[in-house]
Amino acid sequence: MIDMHIHSTNSDGSKTVTEILEMAQKQCLNTISFTDHESCNAYDELEKIDVSRYYSGKIIKGVELKSQHKDLVMDILAYGFDCQKMKEGIAECYKNLTRASIQEKQIKEFYEIGRNLNLNLRPIEELQWDKNKEWGSIVFYNEMKSHIENKDKLASDIWESFSNFKNNHYHIKGDKFYINRANNYPNIKKIIDVIHKSGGKAFIAHIFEYREIKDKIAELEEMVSKYDIDGIECYYTNFTDEEHKEVLKFAKDHNLLISGGSDYHGDFKPGINLGIGKGSLNVPDSVIENWEI
Ligand SMILES: [Zn+2]
Repeated sequence: MIDMHIHSTNSDGSKTVTEILEMAQKQCLNTISFTDHESCNAYDELEKIDVSRYYSGKIIKGVELKSQHKDLVMDILAYGFDCQKMKEGIAECYKNLTRASIQEKQIKEFYEIGRNLNLNLRPIEELQWDKNKEWGSIVFYNEMKSHIENKDKLASDIWESFSNFKNNHYHIKGDKFYINRANNYPNIKKIIDVIHKSGGKAFIAHIFEYREIKDKIAELEEMVSKYDIDGIECYYTNFTDEEHKEVLKFAKDHNLLISGGSDYHGDFKPGINLGIGKGSLNVPDSVIENWEI
């Protein structure tokens, strides 16, 4: 069993690199990959320690990169690259994209929409929040809900939960609250180019996680014909059996490489375990045999 999709404290995971190595050892994972968001720092850490003290399996270099594909923020997983080249590529692509600047831009857009809908909101300057850790969307949602007068001005499902606000509204094109988050990010073509120039391979991550895409397989078909994609993540914590089979068939039919992983984030995504995901994930060692990495 292997796990090729893991987040450490170098991005938005709660466990350190060494903690994850120890866990991987306990779970007998034969190969792992740290795929922190836009960061190769886990690999710098690994160079400074005696890995064999913690873990006896194989480690393949990985990273997860946010990109813009149409109106979507799409995650691309990269594997087997040269870290120095990848770091330069990341620095160039994401130089103006600090987490804080994206969150700030987003909450301003929400406020603009809120004003047009005549919502009661405190002046944006009065909000107390940490743009480096919190989410603009959640801060805005809580502000909206802290004024009971807003209840009748909003669709009832919005009032029920943040996830309704997200999944039924601000992620949905054409909705009053729709925010295009994708145009913050570098184009997918550029990202794939950076991956290839770093000597790595580009995989489309967790396609069934994108609710906005109606026909996932048709979208994959289009992406594979337009972009130089090397592989598809076919084993994933949240995939149903049917989804897994569908995407695996797609990858095989198109002669694409296959990857898989839990998308482990430690305590930040409770219920998702290293290697086994929600309990039944089992990515076979054989999928990486033909990666030539
Ligand atoms: Zn991930």
